Amino acid sequence: MVEYMAYKKRGRKLKLCYYNGEFKSLEEISIPITDLLVQRGVGVFDTLRTYRKRPHAMSIHLKRLEESSHALGIKLPLDIQQIIGVIRKGIAMMDCEEVQMRIYVSGGDVFEDGQFPHPRFFVIFEPLEKAPRENYERGVALAPIDMDRPFPHIKSVFYLPAYVGRRDDKEALEVLYCPDGEITESSSSSFFMVIDGRIVTAPTEKVLDGVMRQIIIKLAEESGLKVEMRCPLLSEVSTAQEAFITGSIKEILPVRRIGSQHLAQVNGPVSQYLQHLYSAKIEDYLE
Ligand SMILES: *Cc1c(COP(=O)(O)O)cnc(C)c1O
Repeated sequence: MVEYMAYKKRGRKLKLCYYNGEFKSLEEISIPITDLLVQRGVGVFDTLRTYRKRPHAMSIHLKRLEESSHALGIKLPLDIQQIIGVIRKGIAMMDCEEVQMRIYVSGGDVFEDGQFPHPRFFVIFEPLEKAPRENYERGVALAPIDMDRPFPHIKSVFYLPAYVGRRDDKEALEVLYCPDGEITESSSSSFFMVIDGRIVTAPTEKVLDGVMRQIIIKLAEESGLKVEMRCPLLSEVSTAQEAFITGSIKEILPVRRIGSQHLAQVNGPVSQYLQHLYSAKIEDYLE
């Protein structure tokens, strides 16, 4: 705690980390290099944000963290109520308008009987950093790769394809997983394409069940827009009207280009309408 106060006094951009029962500045936290998170990329995480300093859809995020963790053979070292306590305390300590949080559960040092019995748990609190405005206005580029995201229901820390897959496209914000030309999701977002006025997105079995994805599908259906749960095809990009990706921090981000194919419209009427619907419902998800 003393370190934290001194840190704050120095007036640096405030980032905090909760680990082992303490909140400290980010630089003061380290985890052992023996952790399988460091050595093998074993671990899960979840990201959420605040609006008006209140966490958004926290219960849904924590349920997914628990499911990701369970699927990997890790029992959460804190129960959900304790994690909520950590999140609320961290948000209150942050000296900024809005906060984004990443909650991590590592594999720990040991793999035994198919389980990781000694995971490490930490939460990083940072000032909310949204993508630059021009990304929303001009849209972003995605780099398609011909592979599945491994274990799509797990929000894993393993992001190697997300880096390797866009080394040749310096403009690309994320890679887009397209096994055999079927678009599933991008490296850290859910993907939607508007084809003949319908919103097409991969079925839940094939992707991470994104919290924004759930909200957008619900809002679209409630407002009478047609949602088709099938993988959009790379071969349909040339005839599609719009595409966008979603995530809890980025909300709805229009796509301008996928590989060498350009979308007909960027931030077109469907993307804008959904963003409008979403903004009107934010309050319902604050906890
Ligand atoms: C985090 C993530 C998302 C977005 O999830 P939200 O719950 O909407 O924030 C989508 N796909 C992948 C692969 C992700 O890692």
